[in-house]
Amino acid sequence: MTQHSLIIATGNAHKVEEFELLLKELQFDVVSAKNCGGMPAVDEDGSTFAANAQIKAEALRKLAPADAWVMADDSGLEVDALDGAPGIYSARYAGVDASDQDNVVKLLDALKDVPKAERTARFRCVLCVIDHDGYITHYDGCCEGRIDTEVHGDGGFGYDPIFIPNGYSESFAQLGDAVKSQLSHRAKAVELMCSILEK
Ligand code: IMP
Repeated sequence: MTQHSLIIATGNAHKVEEFELLLKELQFDVVSAKNCGGMPAVDEDGSTFAANAQIKAEALRKLAPADAWVMADDSGLEVDALDGAPGIYSARYAGVDASDQDNVVKLLDALKDVPKAERTARFRCVLCVIDHDGYITHYDGCCEGRIDTEVHGDGGFGYDPIFIPNGYSESFAQLGDAVKSQLSHRAKAVELMCSILEK
């Protein structure tokens, strides 16, 4: 494969770092949206993760150099006892300007009467990639687990302190980046993308 730049459609430095690590096997020069003027503001008004990822990727495609590829992700937490909420609204579950902590507090409260066996949940991530010819593809990844009854650990971000992945007894915030980069919804989506692009 020719070496192309892969521009990541996010202003979040933490996500660019996570993706650089996950994409290091691919023959891409991974760069942040800062390299083409920063991620433009978009309305994430799609009704699915895939639609929102595509909105972000298409906005960046308009600014990116013609020979670059662009990639955007959209992700969130689906809780079974809440019929899949907060889902695509994960970032703004407790309101438009909600902090991670506000969202966690609201979720723990919504689940306060739900027994352990029914606290199943998953993180989901959809990547949207647009290549230099404008060809659009999507890659889906998820990580199954459960929501604890209180916060544990101070690593990670978002809902990490209350999410316990299947097969573990500690939260993502306690397990740290090395474990998360093997198990996470983003890691699984990137794995799928790499396996397809390498062909
Ligand atoms: P977005 O993909 O940047 O729109 O993220 C949506 C929201 O989902 C984030 O603000 C977090 O609340 C949540 N989220 C997505 N991925 C993770 C994760 O790996 N850990 C914890 N929370 C996450």
